[in-house]
Amino acid sequence: MENNKNEKPHVLVIPFPQSGHMLPHLDLTHQLLFRGAVVTVVVTPNNSTYVDPLRRLHSPENLRTLILPFPSHPLIPSGVESLQQLPLQALPHMLEALSGLRDPLSDWLRRQPPSDLPAAIVGSSFLSPWINKLADEFSLKSICFLPINAHSVATMWAQEDRGFFDDLESATTASYGLVVNSFYELETQYVETVKAKFMTHHRVWTVGPLLPVNSGVDRGGRSSVPSEKVTAWLDSSGENSVVYVGFGSQIRLTKQQTAALAAALERSGVRFIWAVRDAAKKISGDSQDADAGEDVIPAGFEERVAGKGLVIRGWAPQSMILNHRAVGSYLTHLGWGSVLEGLVGGVVLLAWPMQADHFYNTKLLVDELRAAVRAGENRESVPDPEELARVLVESVKEDLPERLEFMKLREKGLNAIKEGGSSYNNLDDLVRETTL
Ligand code: UDP
Repeated sequence: MENNKNEKPHVLVIPFPQSGHMLPHLDLTHQLLFRGAVVTVVVTPNNSTYVDPLRRLHSPENLRTLILPFPSHPLIPSGVESLQQLPLQALPHMLEALSGLRDPLSDWLRRQPPSDLPAAIVGSSFLSPWINKLADEFSLKSICFLPINAHSVATMWAQEDRGFFDDLESATTASYGLVVNSFYELETQYVETVKAKFMTHHRVWTVGPLLPVNSGVDRGGRSSVPSEKVTAWLDSSGENSVVYVGFGSQIRLTKQQTAALAAALERSGVRFIWAVRDAAKKISGDSQDADAGEDVIPAGFEERVAGKGLVIRGWAPQSMILNHRAVGSYLTHLGWGSVLEGLVGGVVLLAWPMQADHFYNTKLLVDELRAAVRAGENRESVPDPEELARVLVESVKEDLPERLEFMKLREKGLNAIKEGGSSYNNLDDLVRETTL
């Protein structure tokens, strides 16, 4: 009986705590479990609920959760365990704090019976500087996960002197291999560049689009409006008639941007769902985050658009919304997780990039592939309501050229994850790699 366990690959999954990283990392975990791996997911207490959707689908024998206390840090307030509770500038502090997980993990690994020792760690690339060392200590393979695409990886890694990001990149390139949430047919040339120029070997696995785990439990947080209410609202809307507006888990709009967007939505007359971050400000050390802004909806707006628009304050059931047939377009920051959810849902993306890889995604999807529409400039820009209203109205048209292009990519993406497709095969290969 003991030996049976050993036949299954055991993988230690260590995600980075922020929804844009955590959710696809757990979607990847689902695929590993689905392929017969035993997985131990490492989380801190406040992030344990992220694992709930997976707990519904997999037995506790195969899906184990290792909950370790969040390591304290002088610049991270107690109780904060996710980057999305902090401004992006707090990333270095978050990384410093999380490196404190190495010793407890080392102790834990030392206590494992040899038959139960993992063969590999599939950890966040952001944590790779210490995960590589931990893996070396126990002769495990360290495989890095990044929730972005190869085009972004190649673009970022080609830049010189990116401060502490340089350390993350060199640790990632020194690891056993890299997993990205993309598919080979989308960006063949960039995948090959990452293999040849940066990793200098072939162990780069494109495994996307990773489908959001759907187990009837809210994903990534409690939805602030019951999903049934959102579904009922969408059910009463025509096919491809609704614009979804949302900027991911990290971004907040300034008051001016919120006002311009509200004016554009009102002027356009389109049906919409707008996911607005809740009023609680982000915490930055001991002061309030000055640049986080607040998504303050102008007074009277919701009354004026009643019947046309649904405003969700707080966490929205985004992947469900994007999969609904009534949603035709998505005004987005172009975070890669959101892009892939839009792709799977078959909605046109209206790109308003804000930071980090959003700009590279815009270059790839808008400029190179002509499969998305540009709708905004950057984090500081305030859109012209009239112009944005025009883009919104156009976006729900069936024959929009970008819709047609994006649907072609969708087909390629869905083929990649079908049995025998490139991502499907890569996942099989990845699981093989995690066997001793
Ligand atoms: N998300 C969600 N509800 C929200 C906001 C975000 O479910 O109200 C999810 C979204 O579906 C996606 C992830 O959070 O899976 C955000 O990832 P992405 O890479 O798009 O952006 P980030 O949050 O990292 O900027």
